[in-house]
Amino acid sequence: MANQTVDNPFAAPGHDHRSCIVAALDAAEAACARRGERLTPLRRRVLELVWRGHRPVGAYDLLALLQDERGRVAPPTVYRALDFLCTQGLVHRLESLQAFIGCGHTGNHMDDQGDGRHAAHFLICQDCGVAVEIRDGQLDGAISGLAGRAGFAIADETIELSGLCAACRNQSVSRPVCTTS
Ligand SMILES: [Zn+2]
Ligand SMILES: [Zn+2]
Ligand SMILES: [Zn+2]
Repeated sequence: MANQTVDNPFAAPGHDHRSCIVAALDAAEAACARRGERLTPLRRRVLELVWRGHRPVGAYDLLALLQDERGRVAPPTVYRALDFLCTQGLVHRLESLQAFIGCGHTGNHMDDQGDGRHAAHFLICQDCGVAVEIRDGQLDGAISGLAGRAGFAIADETIELSGLCAACRNQSVSRPVCTTS
């Protein structure tokens, strides 16, 4: 019988999230140094704020957080920082939510060459709001094969799958499936 067990990519509730933040910032510093890019204090702070949790954050929420600690911050300041972080593959923009999520694969050997941009595939929970970037070699191969057969050059590859994470599915068992009132 085939073993269908797959490691759950969702971070366990109550995990040590500080270590997630530290690892992400360290990896970002290293990646920028390797590419000769500058992770300025502002860019670093925006990245840290994006990494507040595993839920995507909107640009306006980031702006409000920055204004809380720095006073007046012009919106373009935040947009430019986000633009840099996205270009470097340190942050991904989720179109379906119009929000940003930190890349959990920075420093991964697959990103060591090039500018850090990479195909990004996400599982997004509609209940708890957590988004997880997944890496799957078979999926990568299927997509590049499909594009190759079509003679199609992929410029940007972001896949967003919306649904319910395992923890939320377990919780929803006791809830009514459909409420009409
Ligand atoms: Zn975490
Ligand atoms: Zn990524
Ligand atoms: Zn969930």
